[in-house]
Amino acid sequence: MPDPIDLKAPLPPGSTIGIIGGGQLGRMSALAAARLGLRSHIFCQQQDNPGAQVADVATVAAFDDLDALGRFADAVDVVTFEFENIPHQSVQHLAERVCVRPNWESLHTCQHRIVEKDFLNAIGVATAPYRRIDGPRALAKAADELGCPSVLKTCMLGYDGKGQVLLRNGQDAEAAWSKMGGGEGVLEGFVAFEREISVIIARGSDGAIATFDPVENIHTHHILDRTIAPAPINKNQAKEAQSIAHHIAEKMNFVGLLAVEMFVTEDGRLLVNELAPRPHNSGHWTIDACITSQFEQFVRAVCGLPLGSPMRHSDAEMRNLLGDDVNGWLETLKDPAAKLHLYGKAEARPGRKMGHVTWIKRRG
Ligand code: AMP
Repeated sequence: MPDPIDLKAPLPPGSTIGIIGGGQLGRMSALAAARLGLRSHIFCQQQDNPGAQVADVATVAAFDDLDALGRFADAVDVVTFEFENIPHQSVQHLAERVCVRPNWESLHTCQHRIVEKDFLNAIGVATAPYRRIDGPRALAKAADELGCPSVLKTCMLGYDGKGQVLLRNGQDAEAAWSKMGGGEGVLEGFVAFEREISVIIARGSDGAIATFDPVENIHTHHILDRTIAPAPINKNQAKEAQSIAHHIAEKMNFVGLLAVEMFVTEDGRLLVNELAPRPHNSGHWTIDACITSQFEQFVRAVCGLPLGSPMRHSDAEMRNLLGDDVNGWLETLKDPAAKLHLYGKAEARPGRKMGHVTWIKRRG
């Protein structure tokens, strides 16, 4: 891989940020970019997606269409991602032509659960115990070692609990392996957590850091349902969670926005579950309750601009609107404490993220 192309100076207003992925994260990033006088060009695989609806330009092509990616790279000033699962060759193709932030090594680490956990453990960050799984025999052996219950996950492309199977006993190995769908897996020891939290951190190209307050995330059927800001944890735990995120971002030489999901165990330890090298659902509350939102911070970091203050001016609760939940939009608009965000998706399929609501609470 040749030396990465870097930006020589902060991108001035009128510059174009290229965003790979056209979902709601791309949409809210493009809106934040527009507020800073920047243009956005979305590269996505489908027509009429949430991001393309609000971007200046959209390219619709496959993530492995190198010709289209080359034209996209030539048309923008910097490239970033709202979706990290794009082929490695595609990222390399982009990086040969334009500044790509975050760097491809960070993306690669976050694309694969074992690479990610190996990296975290190597830099002294604790995770749940885990084993690499390549078939039912390895699974039965690992289940024996880690004990049950344990959680089998696909190494790549799993999200919102997809490709995830709870193993209740070692006898389930064959069934669990075929339910996961084969490929490459990881078995994780089951964490009896007190709560799940996340920390979102921005790191600028000059190494400046801005960290949002840790929040609590409550999942239903593996999908984020609610985020409580701030997380009801003690000050020391909050500091520790932020310093873990800081350490990870430094060690990755990360430029952009990084979300770190963690378990708080019953005995007070913090175990990192997952990293996301982009804006994150658990940071949507920052739009309405912080001086700088995660999306603005993301744009600032990627474009080489000074980071904004991540200070929380209000407590907040964010709830995702999944599927038909979106039909309550009118009621939500009548609630003076509620801020409604809809993503412009036409079809409300069950479990689909259609929008979110943030309730602003007075700071305690
Ligand atoms: P993930 O796709 O890794 O973010 O997992 C989705 C959700 O499944 C998490 O937010 C947890 O609620 C649950 N989960 C994942 N891994 C474990 C684990 N090792 N132990 C207990 N619960 C887990």
